[in-house]
This record gives sequence, C-alpha cells and structure tokens, in this order.
Amino acid sequence: MALLQIAEPGHAAAPHEHRLAAGIDLGTTNSLVAAVRSGQAEILPDDQGRALLPSVVHYTADGAEVGYDAREQATDDPLNTIASAKRLIGRPVADIKSLGEGLPYEFVRQDSSVPRIHTVSGDVSPIEVSAEIFKVLARRAKDTLGGELSGVVITVPAYFDDAQRQATKDAARLAGLHVFRLLNEPTAAAVAYGLDRGADGVHAIFDLGGGTFDISILRLNKGVFEVMSTGGDSALGGDDFDQVIAEWIMDQAGIADDANHKALRQLMLDARNAKEALSDAESVALDIALPGGDRWQGSLDRETFNSLVDPLIRKTISACRRALRDAGVDAEEVKEVVMVGGSTRMPRVREKVSDFFRRPVLVDIDPDQVVALGAAIQADVLAGNKPDEEILLLDVTPLSLGLETMGGLVEKVIPRNTTIPVARAQEFTTFKDGQTAMAVHVVQGEREMVDHCRSLARFELRGIPPMVAGAARIRVTFSVDADGLLNMEAEELSQGVKASVTVKPSYGLSDEEITGMLQASFEYAEEDLEERKLVEARVEGLRVVEALQSALAKDGEELLNTREREQIDAALQQLMQAIDAQDAAAIDRQAKHVEKVCEFYVERRMNTGIQEAMAGHNINEFE
Ligand code: ADP
Ligand code: MG
Repeated sequence: MALLQIAEPGHAAAPHEHRLAAGIDLGTTNSLVAAVRSGQAEILPDDQGRALLPSVVHYTADGAEVGYDAREQATDDPLNTIASAKRLIGRPVADIKSLGEGLPYEFVRQDSSVPRIHTVSGDVSPIEVSAEIFKVLARRAKDTLGGELSGVVITVPAYFDDAQRQATKDAARLAGLHVFRLLNEPTAAAVAYGLDRGADGVHAIFDLGGGTFDISILRLNKGVFEVMSTGGDSALGGDDFDQVIAEWIMDQAGIADDANHKALRQLMLDARNAKEALSDAESVALDIALPGGDRWQGSLDRETFNSLVDPLIRKTISACRRALRDAGVDAEEVKEVVMVGGSTRMPRVREKVSDFFRRPVLVDIDPDQVVALGAAIQADVLAGNKPDEEILLLDVTPLSLGLETMGGLVEKVIPRNTTIPVARAQEFTTFKDGQTAMAVHVVQGEREMVDHCRSLARFELRGIPPMVAGAARIRVTFSVDADGLLNMEAEELSQGVKASVTVKPSYGLSDEEITGMLQASFEYAEEDLEERKLVEARVEGLRVVEALQSALAKDGEELLNTREREQIDAALQQLMQAIDAQDAAAIDRQAKHVEKVCEFYVERRMNTGIQEAMAGHNINEFE
C-alpha cells in the first residue's frame, strides 16, 4: 500500500511484524498451551483462568466436549469418554492389546492397523481424539493472542518412535495447525530453564505426571541436546499415589473392597485432594462418605503419607539409577536436575530425588507448565520473531534407523542420538542375476535382529536394469527431518535410473481413513479461511488508519485545506467503522476508498518530501 510507505519514510513498512506462535504440551492427563508475549513465555489460561486442560474427550450425539466437563463424564458415560489417548496414539492394535485389559473402551475390530474406538458420535481413532484437544488449545491461543497462529511447537516424550511422532503431527494437522516441529518433552523443560544457554554438560529431567514417569538424561553439546538415555515406567504416576491413599482410607474407615463403583470413584477423588493438599500442609482433615450413608472423619499427616508413598518413590529412583547406567554417567556428573509434572510438587519426591542426585533440584518453574513454556520459547524462535537467535535448538534421533539385510539382520543407517535433521546414504546391490526389483524393509530400534525391532515400512524399488548379480549399485538415502520423521529415496547409480519412494506412515492409515480425516479438516477449513480473511483485513485496515493519522498529525494542517481535510476525515471515519463492524469485505472496500481519496495528499507529501530533502543541496549531489 503506497500510502504507508509515503507516510513513514525511512521506517520499516509494517509496524506489527510479530508472528503469532504457540507451544503445546499434549499430556496424558493434562494439556497446556503457551506463548511468548512481550518477550516472556506465558501459559494461556481458559476463560475461567484455568491453565490446564484435562486431556479427556467426551463424545455425544452432537459432537465432542473436551476438558473439565468431559472428565466429569468418565463415571457416568465411560464408553464415550476417552482419556489418555496419548497412550494409544501411533500404536498398532496389537501393541494396545498388550497395554492390558484396563482400557474400558469398545475397540472396533478391523483391518486397519490403527485402533478405532466405538462412540455414539461414530468410530474415532486416537489421532482424532487428540485433534479435538488440539482444536480447543488452538482456539484458546487464537482468542488470547488475537489472530491466526503462524505455527506451533508440540512436545512428545523422548522415547516416542516415528509412528507415534507422525501420528501426533497428523492430529495437529487435523486440527488445522501448522506444526513448526515436534520437540522432546525433556528438551523443552531444559529450554524453559535456559539450560541450552549454559555451559555444556549432562542434565537429568525427572518427569512424574498423572499416569507416567519418565527420566531422561540429556547432554548439552555445543548447543544441541542429545538424549543419552531414557527410562521410567509407563504405568507409574500420580494416579498410583491416589490409589495407595485411597486404600489407606478404606482400611482406616473400614470400607470394603466391593463398595460400588461410584463410591470408589469418589474415594479416589478424595484421596487425590488429600494428596495434593499435603504438598502444602503438614496434615489434612478427611471427611469420607461411607457406603451406608454415614461419614468417617479422620486425618492424614505428612509422615504417614510419606511412609505410604515411599515404595512408589523408590521405584522412580531405581529407574533414575538405570537411566544413569545406560547413559554411562555417574550421579555426580549431572549438573542440573529439572523437575517436571504435577506429581513433583510432592515435597517427598523432591527430597528423595535431590538426595539421589546429591544436589538441589530445579523447581522454580511450575512443573505442570515447564514443558509448554519451553515449547513456546522454541515456537517464538521458529516463527522468526528472534532473527538474531541464529542457533536453532536441535534434537537427536531417539532410536536407530536401519534396513533389513539378508538373514533378518539389521543394518543401522542412522544410529540413535544422531543430530537431526540428517541425511545418510547407504549403497546396496542385487543378489541375483537379472534382478529388477528389490524389497526394502525399514526398521527402528537398537536390536540386531529385525524381529526385535519395530517395523517402520516396506517398499519395493522397481525398474532396476537387468544386470549380473552385484553389478547394480542402489543408493538408499535416509533423511530425518527436524521432527524426527523419516523420508527415503532410492537411486540405481550404475545406469542412472532414479526411483524415489515415500515411506507411508508406519501406523498405516488406510486410504479411506485418510480421506475421511481430510474431509473433516475441509469442513473446518472453510470456517478457518473466513476467520483468516477477517484478521488479515483488520490488520491491513488498522495499518492504513495508523499511517494516515500519523501523516495528518505531521503535515495535515500545512498541506490540506479545510474541505480536503473533511473529505479525508470522512473516509477515515468510514474505514474505522468497517473495522469495528468486523466486516472483511467492507474493510477492504473502505481501505481502497481511503487510498483513492488520499491520492492527491500522498503526491503532495512526496513533493514536499523531495523539496525538503533537497533544500540546501546542489542538484548534482543527488546523481
Ligand atoms: P501428565 O503429564 O501425565 O499429563 P501432569 O504433569 O499434569 O500429568 O500431572 C498430573 C498429576 O499431578 C496428577 O496425578 C495430580 O494429582 C498431580 N498433582 C497436581 N498437583 C499436585 C500437588 N500439589 N501435589 C501432588 N500432586 C499433584
Ligand atoms: Mg506431562
């Protein structure tokens, strides 16, 4: 827009180039969204001021509700209330069966390797469930930040494999988000504490959440975090602490094990409240409803609590010991210990972890929020808001990537802990005379035999010119992008035949499922597009208003007569009204009108500008 350039000679054209970006922590129990605002990473709360969004989706006949309301439905409508979708995402049905009988959902048996859960609003995959959570967080971010997000950074556990990462990314895309990249959760926590700016060294990230425990040993090496080892227990978290407290209460109050489901659920809630209260108080009063209608009153002090939970904490310490051993470092070598996850609020946990590592642990940043805050910091950098921040934080591949070779052996092409993005090539040859095709089997894992690794993809390279065995040279290039996702290309070198292959996501969505998901995303696309148009029109409109007002303030008096000034003011007024009315088409129209009305003024300003610039100079100086 010419007007603006004239109005502010020598200044950057656009005053508000800050691009909106957010970090999302998609948790098993709770999810959060954060963004950098005025240079500071902040959690974006909901309209009731709550930072957390329970990662629970309740499906009804008319759609889905997410968060606190959905969580309330877990007891009354368990089959339609999906919690902990993160445990299922990107995992084939076979894996999920091995998760145990614990899952209350109705899985739909079908050929697809993606599990689908039957609900009243249709069958849903864990990807779609997660997409619902993303949608709510994305909306929250847009509303709070006042515009479209240019992109997001999403955190995933360090041990997530290719399929789980791909599936998480797909869920975000399904929610209409542009994913700048995925970031390992422990890395995000380290970034939130600014450890990436400190000296190189080893750090431990201790993450005890609602249902899972993860310990990660990271090494910062020239600005890059390497995952030296990960460990933990995918079935140990705050819920288990609730369980031992509930059992203690049942014991004290004489409640039998066979109490009804609702009563037991209430008891679990009471137990959790008591546990959380004991993080601040030395003792907590209990008032428990008994099955017969009476109540039991008692109290639980911290000492008793500690003795009840110590066995659970000991398990986490054993896992820390193993993780250090796997990483090949001693506890003394660990420079910082970062505490992550709501359950690390328990003073006893902090105390035991600190004893084990023999140093104070980092707890200044809210352990619920630290991962999302780190993701927000990265998102801000990736959105381009920090042009001088040249080093982008890098991650490494969590597991080795390789190919199956003769005899079911694995040939590792990219070893684990390789800094990403990375591309590595390996050459292969044919096994038989005249062989024109080759089967390639891509696997992920640390074991030597294919059967013990996870199968990522199989593809065939065809069109190899017939040659004697061993004459063809086929180069297979593995590349892993910044999200840890794999792409492959194969090329026959001796004859220059090129064949490229795309590895299908290993969780193997069927074409139908993909079509279905795309259709769903189109439905939202229209809405999103409308919204984007309005936002863009408003930004543009406000820019015109600002520029014109500042020009008028500078030289309006001098360059315009009363009638001209009235004309311009009227056009400006109409534009501001259109902006207030949130009407994209009207804003565009009025902005153009302003430009037209101001043409003579712009020209006049340009002329005086030149005259001023030349005043006192010889014309030849400007040649
Ligand atoms: P996740 O990463 O699995 O989504 P969170 O990090 O949000 O989980 O942790 C949730 C757990 O933290 C719950 O078990 C909750 O009871 C526990 N928690 C939250 N606040 C406290 C507290 N003040 N004291 C003890 N535990 C807490
Ligand atoms: Mg978490």
